[in-house]
Parts: sequence; structure tokens; C-alpha cells
Amino acid sequence: MPELRKDLLHDKWVLIATEQALEPRFFPINRNGTYVRKDKVCPFCAGNESLTPPEIAAVRKDNSVPDSPGWIVRTVPSKYSAFKLEGELQEERSGIYFSCNGLGKQEVVIGNSDHN
Ligand SMILES: [Zn+2]
Repeated sequence: MPELRKDLLHDKWVLIATEQALEPRFFPINRNGTYVRKDKVCPFCAGNESLTPPEIAAVRKDNSVPDSPGWIVRTVPSKYSAFKLEGELQEERSGIYFSCNGLGKQEVVIGNSDHN
């Protein structure tokens, strides 16, 4: 189960996703900004809406329909959410440390339909 821990130095919450280990091969863009996926299909580009879960919300040009091209900004559920919508919120305190389970869900905001 993912866990949120309070970072006392930075006064921020940090997600510890013990069930998800990301490897460099999972990232489609290398450090030079070059697209490196073999299939060359980006799920976040206009025209590839069928590769993402159904959209939650979008800012669209006139008369374009959901899950189709014509959007300016689009929000979809994350296929790989580190949070889980299961169980109850469980808070835990140990001395000065504070944590809770990762209850919730993640969404992906796609800020531009143009890949570059
Ligand atoms: Zn793209």
C-alpha cells in the first residue's frame, strides 16, 4: 500500500510507492529530450485519445466531442496511479514523524496537444 510521509525539513508530503518501481525504460523521453519509444505512438498527442482512459475534463475548441481531437488541455485518470481508492484513511504518528496510507487517485493533466 502506498504511503504518504511528512517531510519535516521541507514541510511537504512525500509519496512512498512501494509497489511501483519505475525503470528508465518506462520513460519515453531520454535526458536529451529525444523520443525513444520503439512504437513512436504518444498517448498524449491529439489523435491518440483512445490510448488513454476516458477523459475527466477538457478545454475544447468549438463542437469537438470528448475523447477526440480538438482539445487544448485534457485531464484523464492515471493508468498507473500510485494512490489507491481502497479502505479508510489511516493516520500514524511515531514521535515527530507523521504518515498516512496513500488513499486517493491520480489524474494526468495533458497541457498541450502538440507533442513538441
Ligand atoms: Zn505526445
